[in-house]
Amino acid sequence: MKYDVAIVGGGAAGLALAVLLGRREKFNIAVFEGGARAGKKLAASGNGQGNISNGSIAPRNYHGGGSALAYKIISEQGEVYKSLFHGKFVQDERGRIYPAGRQASALSDSLLFDIKKCGVSIFTGAKVTEIKRDGGAFLGILADKSRFSAKCIVLCVGGKAQKQFGTDGSSYSLAQRFGHRITPLLPAIVQLKTDTADIKTLRGIRADCVVSAIVNGRECSRCRGDVIFTEYGVSGNAVFFVSSALAGESGAQINIEFAPDFSEDELAEDIRAKQSLGYERSELLACTLNNQIGRAIVRRAASGDPAVIAHTAKHFTLPVLGTLGFDYAQVTRGGVDMHDISDELESKLCRNLFFAGEVLDVDGDCGGYNLTWALASAAKVASVICGRER
Ligand SMILES: Cc1cc2nc3c(=O)[nH]c(=O)nc-3n(C[C@H](O)[C@H](O)[C@H](O)COP(=O)(O)OP(=O)(O)OC[C@H]3O[C@@H](n4cnc5c(N)ncnc54)[C@H](O)[C@@H]3O)c2cc1C
Repeated sequence: MKYDVAIVGGGAAGLALAVLLGRREKFNIAVFEGGARAGKKLAASGNGQGNISNGSIAPRNYHGGGSALAYKIISEQGEVYKSLFHGKFVQDERGRIYPAGRQASALSDSLLFDIKKCGVSIFTGAKVTEIKRDGGAFLGILADKSRFSAKCIVLCVGGKAQKQFGTDGSSYSLAQRFGHRITPLLPAIVQLKTDTADIKTLRGIRADCVVSAIVNGRECSRCRGDVIFTEYGVSGNAVFFVSSALAGESGAQINIEFAPDFSEDELAEDIRAKQSLGYERSELLACTLNNQIGRAIVRRAASGDPAVIAHTAKHFTLPVLGTLGFDYAQVTRGGVDMHDISDELESKLCRNLFFAGEVLDVDGDCGGYNLTWALASAAKVASVICGRER
């Protein structure tokens, strides 16, 4: 079959692009998705609730060689999710934007509904294994050896995070075939392995904390949110957020600040009050903190001095030993090198070859920033392709 635009990858970026181009009714478009179902990762995003964007987006929320361009494109494209999806959205106290029904699957359903309505062809179980130049067009070859031809190709193949969603990193080779370089790939937004000696008794406990990432003695990221203690170290949304700042760093630490609603002085005062009532040392943080957490802090403080115990509660540092890796990461740090990508997200090495989403060397913080990039980059490519056809 011959298409005007072939979109490789039916994830957030690929499906959004198909809808935005399909609404123009002037292109013959096909989406090739390697998995059995398109939009699978989008439908699992945000713990199944679909954290589609964030009300507060700043340059510091993006990382990688394409971070400055990503921020520019995101600012230029505005709130893409509003025009893309049918339905209402809500924003929580941390700026995270969700569909009001809190169902991520509704997001992929909405895109698939529009794709069908616009008459875009969508092929599932259709892994593209090779793309080559064929005169003025492209020839695409699928795993089952079937072929298609297209005037324009957009690679929306994602990265290397969580291969169960069809993203095992093998599709970077489609870009490499045209001479594109891939920057070093690292797992980001991921659980951290830490020294567990002082947190063994806390397994399974979730606490609201302020977590900071510390590299070479300098705090480089900070977030308030959930910390979940596990057998390997720590998880939870605050950990995911700061983990991005630790990708590829060695000798890093995280600092956990317990009881974020109370100052160190207030904690010391609480401890003194309990001491004067005759509380056991191990119970000096009872009621103010989870009992197990309170005991772990007192054990670590190794002193009965209220100021020392309070200080320990606010400076509970853990050496970071690594991450759980790509199988658990939400996003890939690194990707197609931006030096060979134009500001229109087109290859500088091959005309009419475009890129959108996580495949590029751009990653965002935890909190809706990655789906924001997937949609904004798709919207950018759609506007460039439509502009050329005018
Ligand atoms: C569990 C989880 C939860 C997340 N939650 C959030 C969240 O709440 N908010 C947020 O902003 N971000 C979240 N993210 C990150 C976000 O989902 C991704 O950054 C985003 O989906 C990237 O979109 P994409 O279209 O570039 O790639 P993907 O969504 O990864 O899609 C790529 C698609 O391409 C297909 N593909 C790959 N190679 C080929 C090939 N050769 N031929 C055909 N098809 C191919 C894959 O099967 C896949 O369907 C989450 C990630 C995970 C794993």
